[in-house]
Amino acid sequence: MDSTPATVPYLRIRNLSKKFGAFTALDAVDLDVMPGEFVSFLGPSGCGKTTLLRAISGLDVQTTGSIHQGGLDISTLPVAKRDFGIVFQSYALFPNLTIKDNVAYGLVSAGTPRIAIDKRVKELLELVGLPEQAGKYPAQLSGGQQQRVALARALALSPGLLLLDEPLSALDARVRARLRGEIRDLQQRLKLTTIMVTHDQEEALTMSDRIVVMSHGRIEQVGTPDEIYGRPATAFVADFVGKMNFLEGRLVTSKRADVSGAVLDFGEEVPLAEGAAVTVCLRPEDVVVRDIGEHADNRLSVQVGVMEFIGNHFATTLHASGTNLNFSADFSINAVRDLGISSGATIEVALPPQRLRVFAQPRSAPA
Ligand code: ATP
Repeated sequence: MDSTPATVPYLRIRNLSKKFGAFTALDAVDLDVMPGEFVSFLGPSGCGKTTLLRAISGLDVQTTGSIHQGGLDISTLPVAKRDFGIVFQSYALFPNLTIKDNVAYGLVSAGTPRIAIDKRVKELLELVGLPEQAGKYPAQLSGGQQQRVALARALALSPGLLLLDEPLSALDARVRARLRGEIRDLQQRLKLTTIMVTHDQEEALTMSDRIVVMSHGRIEQVGTPDEIYGRPATAFVADFVGKMNFLEGRLVTSKRADVSGAVLDFGEEVPLAEGAAVTVCLRPEDVVVRDIGEHADNRLSVQVGVMEFIGNHFATTLHASGTNLNFSADFSINAVRDLGISSGATIEVALPPQRLRVFAQPRSAPA
């Protein structure tokens, strides 16, 4: 599908639903994935990420809806006829086969000539950085190495689509962080359309071109990591990705709310009636403490609570003087040093209007 123009989705999912008895695991999902894109399905346990991935692979059949891949309707195509490679959380290598034979498995099944298999396996093991391990058995390799073998095996038949089902969650933190970069680098070099299921927001934010945030079988938001983090579309997304203050208040006008006695401006209109109950979302790191003079709006005099040293910043709780408003703030080490901020001090901060997200109440609880 190399000739497919970038504006035509490689994968097109329409109205996809999956029921298990009376339970709806996927509810009318629509999604386009562009050629060469790395898309993550992110959400809490049970939200339907794996079910959606399995429907795309054909390992499970959807109850309703359609899936097109590369212009072809694959909705009812059997798994064996679909064009994808898959990597699972649990490596799923054959323990009695060497690394070379594990990688060669699909090629042998496809009837590829021996010489071509040897060449391709060598190429794949080099691609995943394991050229020396061909003759070993899976048990002789570390978890991270085994997962790279699983990746090489998934790529053996040059699939049009790579599916990754929590590929890093069985690995320890350091290996996970390294493999994250390696997989992303490989995917970009191969320009391979890739979908990854994960419940790890850091993984999704660092690896993806776009993230699909799911809850209760539905898509909450599709966006770039920056959009998902910086402009969450729903309170659920705001809550699930990153740290967030949820401040309850009431609209005073369409652009400002009274939040526990402090009046906060949003800069843009909220399409709700005056007096409506709202939740104002604020990331702790968006609390401004430096160059406060440059901020005209939402300036508050606050009392600093206990300062916790987190390693690369300080976390604290601020109490806005003369109000009942308390919120978390993260200050950089340099800001704390330069401004001499200490627990119990009264300082001035600003909450930039463009950083506030406002949602109608009641907000739905995370799944
Ligand atoms: P996790 O991160 O825990 O794997 P997930 O988001 O991938 O979660 P799914 O595995 O897609 O979630 O499951 C979605 C919902 O469908 C869950 O409530 C699950 O219990 C249910 N479910 C999945 N497979 C089946 C099945 N074969 N029979 C009945 N219910 C199922």
